[in-house]
Amino acid sequence: MPTNAQILLDSRPSAAATLSNFKLVTQETPALQDGQVLVRHHFLSLDPYMRGRMNDAKSYTAPQALGEVMGGWQTYSVVNAATLGALRKVDTTHVPLSYYLGAVGMPGVTAWYGLVHILEAQAGQTVVVSAATGAVGSAFAALAKKRACRVVGIAGGPAKCDYATTELGFDACIDYKQHTDAASLSSALKEVCPDGVDGYFENVGGMVLDAVMLRMNDFGRIALCGMIAGYDGKPLPMNYPALILRSRLKIQGFIVTEHLDVWPQALQELGELVATGKLRPRESVAQGLAAAPEAFLGLLKGQNFGKQIVKLM
Ligand code: NDP
Repeated sequence: MPTNAQILLDSRPSAAATLSNFKLVTQETPALQDGQVLVRHHFLSLDPYMRGRMNDAKSYTAPQALGEVMGGWQTYSVVNAATLGALRKVDTTHVPLSYYLGAVGMPGVTAWYGLVHILEAQAGQTVVVSAATGAVGSAFAALAKKRACRVVGIAGGPAKCDYATTELGFDACIDYKQHTDAASLSSALKEVCPDGVDGYFENVGGMVLDAVMLRMNDFGRIALCGMIAGYDGKPLPMNYPALILRSRLKIQGFIVTEHLDVWPQALQELGELVATGKLRPRESVAQGLAAAPEAFLGLLKGQNFGKQIVKLM
């Protein structure tokens, strides 16, 4: 049997995660039992939620066990062929294989669920998304444009903002790093959202959430998808909660894996957008399993530019 390289969770972070929290090991893959399949991985997906699992804290999923493989961070796995959904043939004729980890996978469905079921976006409305050029944000833009919304992004740095408007179809994109406080970011948003904001898809939290809340229209909706600015444990105070009452806002958090019923419909639409060239997401590709921890820490600091994956072969 081949040798399996694995990245284990070696210790829990006390604040920001570091390389010392991970350990690379190799071991023999076990002999296969009847009905088992040895799978060799081509790509590995790195996702912000994995940071939460490194803590031993109450959450919507169990913590990652110490000394165990970081969910899927290995070159081989053994699966039982009879387990429903364990093995699936994907069509790579029009959709590149790695996109099944991003635009036509979990992050794409996340954008779809928040836009369709929480924001309930209608043609002509203005919708805003933070972490705009990432895996979720880029899918959100294509889905919202298809529904004839005005779609505005918030992203870190001029390169990401240029890319958002020239390649991803955003009508405008604001660089939050140019603004030191919510009032300033909110003024910049006012320029590009002259009719206010009807729906906000939140990926970040903190100052960015404050700034968008100041621009929300009455009866606006906020899909609370992620709060990456606080994943290392920094408190994220909300400075204008009275706006929820004054503007009669609806704020709803969600976890995409609790809505498996919508996945087929969402994946079909996302696959069509990719196949027809209307969604051409960018990827940040790290090479080899050993590069995964550093790429993951980079993702948590905004160093990725598009969906972060690791190419394993
Ligand atoms: P991305 O590809 O968007 O990468 C993360 C991005 O977050 C960074 O590139 C960075 O972009 C941005 N970011 C903004 N503020 C900060 C900050 N203070 N520190 C670090 N990064 C920051 O990731 P995904 O598209 O995979 O995920 C986006 C969000 O969606 C995350 O919050 C994630 O947890 C959430 N999510 C939630 C799901 C759910 O079921 N609720 C499912 C999937 C994802 P920039 O440089 O532009 O700031």
